[in-house]
Amino acid sequence: MTYIGRLAPSPTGAQHLGNARTYLVAWLHARTNRGKLLLRIEDLDTPRTKSGAEALVLEDLEWLGLDWDRDASSLGFARQSERTNRYAEVLDQLKSRELIYPCTCSRSEIEEAASAPHESFLDGTVYNGKCASNHVADAMKFEQQGTKYAWRFRFSPMQTTTWIDQFAGQQTLIPSQSLGDFIVARNYGPVAYQLAVVVDDHDSDINNVVRGDDLIYSTYRQLAIYDALQWKAPSWIHLPLVVGNDGRRLAKRHGDSRLKFYREQGVKPEELLNAIAQSLGLTTNKSLLNANQILDLAQQSSDWLHRIPAAPFQWTL
Ligand code: GLU
Repeated sequence: MTYIGRLAPSPTGAQHLGNARTYLVAWLHARTNRGKLLLRIEDLDTPRTKSGAEALVLEDLEWLGLDWDRDASSLGFARQSERTNRYAEVLDQLKSRELIYPCTCSRSEIEEAASAPHESFLDGTVYNGKCASNHVADAMKFEQQGTKYAWRFRFSPMQTTTWIDQFAGQQTLIPSQSLGDFIVARNYGPVAYQLAVVVDDHDSDINNVVRGDDLIYSTYRQLAIYDALQWKAPSWIHLPLVVGNDGRRLAKRHGDSRLKFYREQGVKPEELLNAIAQSLGLTTNKSLLNANQILDLAQQSSDWLHRIPAAPFQWTL
C-alpha cells in the first residue's frame, strides 16, 4: 500500500516554529517511506482564517524546502472551503442514522454547567448531555423557531476506546466520560474541524497522519466518526509540542516565532532546520543542513522517528 500523508496548515496567520517542526517530521516520514505527501489548506475557521495567510503558508514551505505532491486539481492542493457540499453530504449520512443530535446549548450555558470547583478536563469542557435525548427531527422545530443549534456526535455511552499512536504508543479512555459528545457542525456556520478532517483524509486516501499532540484527544472523536461511517482510519503520529522557557506552549508572549519573522531577520532556513533536526535527535552537528540533507540523515537510520524525545521541546528564542 502506498503511503499517503498530508500537511494540513490552518491559514490563521504566519506558520511558526512548532508548525515547521511538525511539517519537517511529516515530510521526512512520507519521504523515508517513499510515500506521497499532499497539501490541504484548512481554511474553514472563517473568523480565524486571515486573508493572505494561504500565500504565506506556501512561501513558508518553500523557504523551508519542504515540497508536497500536487493533487489533480488546478491548484495542486485542496482547500477545505471548497468542499462544503461534500461535508454536508456526510453530515446527512450521520443524520439519517441518528448518530448526531441538534443541541441548542450556548457556550456559556455549557461552561456554567461544568464549573464545578477543581474539575479538570483533558481537552476542553465535557458536555453534560443536556440535549442528548433530542432527535434529528427536532432540528425542524429549531429552524422554525429561529433557534441556533449545533450538531453533536453521540459517543457510545461508557464504551472504552483504545488505539495505538505510532509515536506515543497505546492510548485508551472512555470518550463519553472523559471528552463528552462533540460538535460536528453548526446550523449557522461551517462544519467543525473534527468532521472536515475525517472526510478530507478519507476522500484523499490519507493513511498516515503526523501532527502535534495537542490533537491527541481529537483522535478519539475522529475515530468515532470513522467507525460510524465504516471508513478505515489512518495511522496517527502525534508529536510533542514546542514550548517556551516556561514550559508552556510556544505563543506570542514568548516572542516572535513566526517563520516570516525569522526570514525577515535574515535567518537562513538551514539554521532553523538544523536547530529542529537537533531537537529531533537527528544530528548533534552544528553544520547547516537543508531539508534534503536532513532526509539523508533520516534515511540512514531505521528508527529515527522513535529517537525523537518524548518530552515537549523547549525552544529558547
Ligand atoms: N490544521 C491543523 C493545524 O494546523 C492540523 C489538523 C490535523 O493535522 O488534523 O493545527
